[in-house]
Amino acid sequence: MSRENPTLYPICEIFASIQGEGTWTGRPMVFIRAWGCPLACSWCDEPLHRDPTARQWLTIDAILSAIAQAGPGLGDVVLTGGEPLALPELSALVAALKSNGYRVAMESSGHGGLLPDPPVDWLTLSPKTPLPESLYQAANEIKFVLGADSGSEEAILSRAAVHPNVWVQPRAKGDTPDPIAVTRCLELTMQSRGRLRLSLQIHKYIGIR
Ligand code: SF4
Repeated sequence: MSRENPTLYPICEIFASIQGEGTWTGRPMVFIRAWGCPLACSWCDEPLHRDPTARQWLTIDAILSAIAQAGPGLGDVVLTGGEPLALPELSALVAALKSNGYRVAMESSGHGGLLPDPPVDWLTLSPKTPLPESLYQAANEIKFVLGADSGSEEAILSRAAVHPNVWVQPRAKGDTPDPIAVTRCLELTMQSRGRLRLSLQIHKYIGIR
């Protein structure tokens, strides 16, 4: 089958771990990491999605087999990246995952394509640039990543004033939390009058993926 065939999905890795961020922190899930992203954030902590040698072209059946092998008995999968919205035929993949009984979460920057139909069961929006209001409204949670000296506290607080589930997460330095960004996020959370929650990528504190 040719690489142009839209039923082949560019994937870097499929692995089981705990969710380390946001609302579902601590829950075991199978992660499906899409290869590629239309953005090129300088701080991106997932270099695998840009490594051509990591890209595998998988059919839906191959993805389902890899999920079952990685996390036997697990019912939660998360589409992440890279940018899952940029996957070809994303709706067909989500439909297949749901029809196989999985609860499907997705983490997206909001770039690269349209939201799938059927919708995912949980959408985490992690904005890196301005986005349409419709995406914010579709999100079950919004996660802002704040660096040691970049990112707008004002924009985060304004969004937290109108959305019930907003998180702020310190930008990492590779696989290590950045202590200055952690402090900045902690201070912002404390100033938010209970509207913000702090997400700490706990997998990085315990040295797992
Ligand atoms: S949007 Fe996410 S995956 Fe894409 S380059 Fe930025 S940090 Fe990396």
